[in-house]
Amino acid sequence: MFEKKTRKEDIKMDILVINCGSSSLKYQVINSDTEKVLAKGICERIGAGGVLKYRPAGGEEEVYDYDMPTHTEAVKFVLDSLVNEKTGVLKSLSDIDAVGHRIVHGGEAFNKAILITEDVIKAVEECNDLAPLHNPANIIGIRACQKVMPGIPMVGVFDTAFHATMPKKAYLYGIPNEYYKKDKLRRYGFHGTSHSFVSKKAAELVGKPYDKCRTIVCHLGNGASICAVENGKSVDTSMGLSPLEGLIMGTRSGDIDPSVIQYIANHYNKSLNEVITILNKESGVLGMSGISSDFRDITKAMQEGDEQAKATLEAYCYRVAKYIGSYITAMHGVDVVAFTAGIGENNSYIRKFVTEYFDFLGVKVDEKANEPMHISDDTLITTSDSKIPFYVIPTDEELSIARQTVDVLDGNK
Ligand code: ADP
Repeated sequence: MFEKKTRKEDIKMDILVINCGSSSLKYQVINSDTEKVLAKGICERIGAGGVLKYRPAGGEEEVYDYDMPTHTEAVKFVLDSLVNEKTGVLKSLSDIDAVGHRIVHGGEAFNKAILITEDVIKAVEECNDLAPLHNPANIIGIRACQKVMPGIPMVGVFDTAFHATMPKKAYLYGIPNEYYKKDKLRRYGFHGTSHSFVSKKAAELVGKPYDKCRTIVCHLGNGASICAVENGKSVDTSMGLSPLEGLIMGTRSGDIDPSVIQYIANHYNKSLNEVITILNKESGVLGMSGISSDFRDITKAMQEGDEQAKATLEAYCYRVAKYIGSYITAMHGVDVVAFTAGIGENNSYIRKFVTEYFDFLGVKVDEKANEPMHISDDTLITTSDSKIPFYVIPTDEELSIARQTVDVLDGNK
């Protein structure tokens, strides 16, 4: 059994952040006072073998083949690695003060992070239909941690919560209202921890109070979404009921006329579920380019003269620019635009193509500042006389989860 700790101002808090997928478990241990990552890693192939990757701060990555029939074994191996004599970063497991769990879908039930209780787990389970691939895995992760770490406080941090402030006009679909009233079919949005983290940073960088700043955050990773943050609140975002809506992504189609679904089903004799799988896993830049879902490969092909790679990247950037344009309208203006996540932080072509759409508003790309593919610090990529500043702001979803976990514990003292 663990000794239960309460937070005192002079005591450091080590937070274990867990992001559980159906066959994977990503983790980090973050010291909340220094905000330093002590160790991080991932368990992969859970249920089909098992691989643990572990990297202590400043050390080499270690890779182990372990038998992980379920997430419970994975959590045990993670904890063992954190306290092992040679490369462990904790003296004992009681050094872990709390666990922050990423939970994908909180439906309308959760508008902020919350201490996990049985009632909370029940309410998350009620959202399973809204995120059938993600929420059950998140709950498995919580259960596994509860089993291995009884008594340690656990906090749920929801991808959807930041968007709970969206007004009805942004979240209602143009469908019969009974589907919203009875079934809660509406737009929810995702990547909330990232949009919240980056928009706060953006306001700081332009020297405006968060509650008086209009920010557009472009989270461009394998999954991608854009968010309009007006005066500290999400007022619109491009993902919807599920992460399939919005931008063209690595393998997801983003916005699509539903008639395309009907056509593919009828002409290729596919079930509805099969077509949705095509739209989630075989579409996006992977399907369009026929090359890869990884922007490094598509950018390289474009540089080598591949016309379809060029068309794919143009379509991708066009969609991003259209969303930025619509969110400028939604907020009657914008104070700062931020690029973040894998592509936002690592692809100067995409940043440049998108930013150049706004030349008509007096936006000018700073070619030198934007030139490096990889930008690891907050960086202004428009010129000082540009009418709207565009930044690269590296996201840190795990740190955001750790901060929210500490806030919840402080609030529950
Ligand atoms: P997710 O977390 O949604 O799986 P990421 O934020 O890691 O996705 O983004 C994946 C994309 O970002 C890939 O298409 C890849 O091209 C790009 N990317 C990520 N890391 C790098 C890197 N170090 N160098 C170049 N491109 C990168």
